Amino acid sequence: MESKVVDQKGKAEHKKVDDVKLYIDGEFVDGKAGATFENVNPFTNEVTNRVAEGREEDMDLAVAAAKNAFKNGPWGKMKLADRMKYINKIADLIDEEVEEIAVLESLDTGLPISQTRKMTARAAENFRFYARMVQSKLHGDAYAVDDEFINYTVYKPVGVVGLITPWNAPFMLETWKVAPALATGNTVILKPAELSPLTANKLAEVIDKAGVPEGVFNVVHGFGETAGASLVANEDVAAISFTGETVTGSTIIKNAADSLKKTSMELGGKSPLIVFDDADFDRALDAAVWGIFSFNGERCTANSRVFLHKNIKDKFVEALKERVTNIKVGDPMDTSTQLGPLIDKGHFDKVTEYIEVAKHEGCEVIQGEVPEEVKAGNFVPPTLLLNATNDMKVAQEEIFGPVMAVIEFETEEEVIEAANDVKYGLAGYVWTNDIKRGHRVAQAVEVGMLWINAQNVRDLRVPFGGTKASGIGREGGYYAMFEFYTEPKVIHVAIGDHHIPQFGKKKN
Ligand code: NAD
Repeated sequence: MESKVVDQKGKAEHKKVDDVKLYIDGEFVDGKAGATFENVNPFTNEVTNRVAEGREEDMDLAVAAAKNAFKNGPWGKMKLADRMKYINKIADLIDEEVEEIAVLESLDTGLPISQTRKMTARAAENFRFYARMVQSKLHGDAYAVDDEFINYTVYKPVGVVGLITPWNAPFMLETWKVAPALATGNTVILKPAELSPLTANKLAEVIDKAGVPEGVFNVVHGFGETAGASLVANEDVAAISFTGETVTGSTIIKNAADSLKKTSMELGGKSPLIVFDDADFDRALDAAVWGIFSFNGERCTANSRVFLHKNIKDKFVEALKERVTNIKVGDPMDTSTQLGPLIDKGHFDKVTEYIEVAKHEGCEVIQGEVPEEVKAGNFVPPTLLLNATNDMKVAQEEIFGPVMAVIEFETEEEVIEAANDVKYGLAGYVWTNDIKRGHRVAQAVEVGMLWINAQNVRDLRVPFGGTKASGIGREGGYYAMFEFYTEPKVIHVAIGDHHIPQFGKKKN
């Protein structure tokens, strides 16, 4: 795959890239049926390249390779320190290719280059982080109950794991699963989103170059209903880690039940950001704008519902209007671009339709500008839905675009009730300088992650994920390691001669 970077810090270039193959058992190969599908640049809506379409037979080959690598290969048996050398090597190789990967990511997704550069650097850190975590923290406990027994636990890899990922921030999200899966000794099949295949192959190239044994890591491109579904159905796959839409997650759980697979679900969101009248106005404003308009609004933790206290609402809305009309919309390869095109025409239509619904529901719609010269792309301007109420469709459903619903509130009780009156429970944000209120609201809002006076920053050791329709299980630090990618095994050892009932033994 060629895509040469023009300038490390400045504007990058849209490039024609080579066709993308599957990566199975250490080889880049075509699908068995020879089928391919188009990959389209969201900025131009022109075909970038073609992608090998993996189907059931390709998935079966990848699973067989991963199973063989797990059972017979050196990966699971090698010393931890040796396995971590590979994991750290992958991180180093990503670092060497940050710019190349960021360019491919922007080309594929329309995400601004300034943002994909940072996310690619974070992807390298995901590998380093798990190399450190597994070496320092992945250990069992010993229970010496009395002089007769010692019980101890060890954490074993689950085996072959299937990782199914979405198109928003694909490279970073893929590595957030691949790094803990490999570091803990599993073998992997990655099924990337069909709309963003490029950087998954870059990851395969990097892992190949790092010398990871064949079969340990495999990539099978293809569609959800075929490639994805056959990964979920395969009896040799022990676990599926999924990130994507809530409705897809629900289907996967049902299908995975047939073979009793372990599943982890990172799903959609409709996260509230609450600004009280005593908040640091400017910081809350920066956070509210960044939280929905960064990553093109295609972000699971986006604060798509902004609740403003009535005392500051008018001033805050005026400031929002000014910000929205100044957001730099344009070519994702331009370093000054803040908002790029949406992933594809279908998603553009969906987001645009929601804005029409908002008008019908009675919202005042305020939008920024899309420059004339970029109109071939899937651009939705940064959009405010003013005078929204929490019961509206646009405040209840995940739009997954640069669209903020602005809702007024008066009391703490009322805003907590509204924040919770939604099917999702991924993230929440509260802005107040009243420390007690901040913690009260944080405790009461039903989400997996809550930030007080902060935007999305966090320590990688903490659990990442949501409640309600936003997910089951958590990713991140200890949680991915102990609760998903490994199984605890208990070893019971007798160190004395404890009583064993003597069934069938004749009495003397
Ligand atoms: P999606 O559910 O359409 O697709 C995700 C992946 O699932 C793709 O690889 C797709 O091919 C595959 N898939 C589809 N149907 C399948 C099936 N029946 N069996 C197996 N695999 C199948 O999601 P998307 O549109 O790519 O991503 C956007 C969604 O992801 C949003 O809802 C967003 O909130 C969510 N997301 C959540 C998090 C989180 O951490 N909670 C992070 C990022 C994105």
